[in-house]
Amino acid sequence: MRLTIDKIAELDGKTCFICGRYLLNNTRRDLAYAEVHTGRPVLLRPERYYLFACPNCGKIAHKRCWYEVADKKVKRSFFRTKGWKIVCPSCGFEISGLRPNRLDWRHGYQIPGHPDSELMELYTSDVLAYKAGALFGKVGQAIDGLFKVVGLSSVTDPERNAIAAAAARVGKTLSDIAAKVFKLDIPPERRAEITALKCQNCGAPLPLPPPGEKAVVCEHCGTAHLLP
Ligand SMILES: [Zn+2]
Ligand SMILES: [Zn+2]
Ligand SMILES: [Zn+2]
Repeated sequence: MRLTIDKIAELDGKTCFICGRYLLNNTRRDLAYAEVHTGRPVLLRPERYYLFACPNCGKIAHKRCWYEVADKKVKRSFFRTKGWKIVCPSCGFEISGLRPNRLDWRHGYQIPGHPDSELMELYTSDVLAYKAGALFGKVGQAIDGLFKVVGLSSVTDPERNAIAAAAARVGKTLSDIAAKVFKLDIPPERRAEITALKCQNCGAPLPLPPPGEKAVVCEHCGTAHLLP
């Protein structure tokens, strides 16, 4: 099931017991594929990844980590594989008995007996929205490095123009803008994933800037935010 922002917040700061990364951090390798039996592998859209908790000890790991580490080959002899078996690396609980084969990750691998529909499902857009909204005033460690603080005097000319335009949209001028500017440091292609923004200074909700505009100014405190 798709996790709500509240459920995502509960995972903030928690790590995968297999790989040690934060559960709210994912790489392209974690993204889920649709189950297809012919043709090229197809990534699920919107892009999402899954977390799975051991039914016995409750420890949580990325689905990809279960696939790579816990779903092990059982050898018949040194050159022949007898099958596959999935065992919890923490408590040793047998999640699946021996199966002769397993589906490749890119063909929509499912944890035996625990299909994706039962797993914790994270949309990368939800995770990014949560991180962008929760950056400051949160203890969570997973949200590092998304916004960085730059001085208004050190921004580039195009950035300054974008800030001036954003200021004008809320009835302000550059002279009203705070010296501390928050710059969202994500790849430009991920900007479309942002669905909500909060002022990183005062916490007020910020309107998403119109497409093509690279700045948004908080109408309450005059803090500028730069987007990719
Ligand atoms: Zn992991
Ligand atoms: Zn376990
Ligand atoms: Zn503000």
